[in-house]
Amino acid sequence: MEMALANYGIHLHRLYDAYLRGRCPLPSHTSKGSRESFIVNTRKNAWACHSASCVAARGGRLGGNVLDFVAAMEGCAIREAALKLQDGHLVTAIASEPVTYQHEADRGGWGTGGAPLPFALRRIDCSHAYLTERGVNPEVARHFGLGYNRGKGSMAGRIVIPIHDENGLLVAYAGRSIDQTEPRYRFPARFRKSLVLFNLHRAAAAGKSVIVVEGFFDCLRVHEAGLPGVVALMGCSLSIRQEELLCERFQEVTLFLDGDNAGRTAGPAIAQRLVSKVSTRLIETPAGRQPDQLGADQIRCLCIPGYF
Ligand SMILES: [Zn+2]
Repeated sequence: MEMALANYGIHLHRLYDAYLRGRCPLPSHTSKGSRESFIVNTRKNAWACHSASCVAARGGRLGGNVLDFVAAMEGCAIREAALKLQDGHLVTAIASEPVTYQHEADRGGWGTGGAPLPFALRRIDCSHAYLTERGVNPEVARHFGLGYNRGKGSMAGRIVIPIHDENGLLVAYAGRSIDQTEPRYRFPARFRKSLVLFNLHRAAAAGKSVIVVEGFFDCLRVHEAGLPGVVALMGCSLSIRQEELLCERFQEVTLFLDGDNAGRTAGPAIAQRLVSKVSTRLIETPAGRQPDQLGADQIRCLCIPGYF
């Protein structure tokens, strides 16, 4: 459901736990009064809109599963919705199993126990050789939900990395090529990386101090070194929005950028912007190295003041 919402560019806010809520995006929704009528359970992959006119326009159904959602959005039959999902959208970029759907009675809707996702990430390999060669152990890969995509679509044959917004809502997958194929990283067309910080929702839950790195793999390595309060810029520049996200959630920021020219230039400039708002520290990464090339102990020595 989160992937389908992301696919349509729909933003809901997190009510609590697995519940999202917001304005109903369905074409059947005509009521102007019910602004918060649309609710999603991301665990059951179910949705519902409680507006009476919206329910009536959809033949009396309160909600349903992902296929029902796509069918309602597109104004098509369930079978066509399944085919659309197979057709090279973000959702299907990581789709794995052939899309199958069950009889109406078996398709769990809202509050009925839910139905299995027809495109669950079943063919994501968390222990692919590319990951082990880069020092990412399967446990860490599972924690971040990333792995080699054995499925079809534009992300096929890439390491897919789920990216969440500040509320923990899945907004995109990045696809890293495992050979020399360009682009090295593929992002969905509508995704703007300047609006999010990779791993922010987990880092914010870990405490009030955060380590800021450039890349996904730097982030994984710092996490693996026992420092879960880490986010990645997905580059070496800090956007205004990213600056806000950092300053709203953290009291202490440790900048741990790459030890190349770009990182050494960006570091002090970013520190200067942050220093009046949060306690800021700039780490001198060994020349020519980046965090994901360092050992766990070396990372702890650099990042934890007083650690030997
Ligand atoms: Zn509605």
